[in-house]
Amino acid sequence: MIDKILKYQDLDRQIRALEKESSNMEEKQIMNKMIAYVKDAQNKSAQLESQAKQLVDDYQKVKSEYDLALKNIQNLVDSKTQNDRTVNLINTYSSDLYMLERKLNIIVNKSQEILKQFSVAKNNVLKAKQKHKECKEKYDSKINAINPKIEKLRQEQKKLEPEIDEKALAKYKNVLNDNIFPVFVPVAGNLCGGCRMEIPMGKMDKLKNDGFIVCEQCGRFIYNK
Ligand SMILES: [Zn+2]
Repeated sequence: MIDKILKYQDLDRQIRALEKESSNMEEKQIMNKMIAYVKDAQNKSAQLESQAKQLVDDYQKVKSEYDLALKNIQNLVDSKTQNDRTVNLINTYSSDLYMLERKLNIIVNKSQEILKQFSVAKNNVLKAKQKHKECKEKYDSKINAINPKIEKLRQEQKKLEPEIDEKALAKYKNVLNDNIFPVFVPVAGNLCGGCRMEIPMGKMDKLKNDGFIVCEQCGRFIYNK
């Protein structure tokens, strides 16, 4: 009985190694990085978009102030009345125009900067998506090689199952489900081969008689070699 279940356990060992290989694959990690990168870039783009919207609003506001000052100057020039008051007004409006023009320039420069950042972000997203695609292809082909191996080992386990005591197998699966592996460990002197706990004398006798005992500390099955 112990031979069969140890064989069964060895198949699990091979399955677990293959599953670990799948989840530790470098491509998988790069794919996750690329996904996170694209998400970040999308957030950044959304921020840039709202900044751009604000700049358009600012531009329109400043532009209408600019147009108004220009119109006021035009009216004063058209009225052809030249006195100190109109000259002063024209000077005031002219310096307003100068200030507003500077503001408009600043807004235009900021817009260009945002456009530049936007295009960099867009390019990087394209690159990240391309890299993700390449990695996924590699990952899929590796997974497609691993999965049939796992399936084959599972088939072997299925074939073995009828030859193993039903209760022992159920207990084995219970311990395995708690992510304890290996489940069956050989006795190491008078220690549990899994957690190294010392086995009491009485239990050592039971081990000699029954061929195996359950470890009180880790729940593993300890067997006699
Ligand atoms: Zn133990």
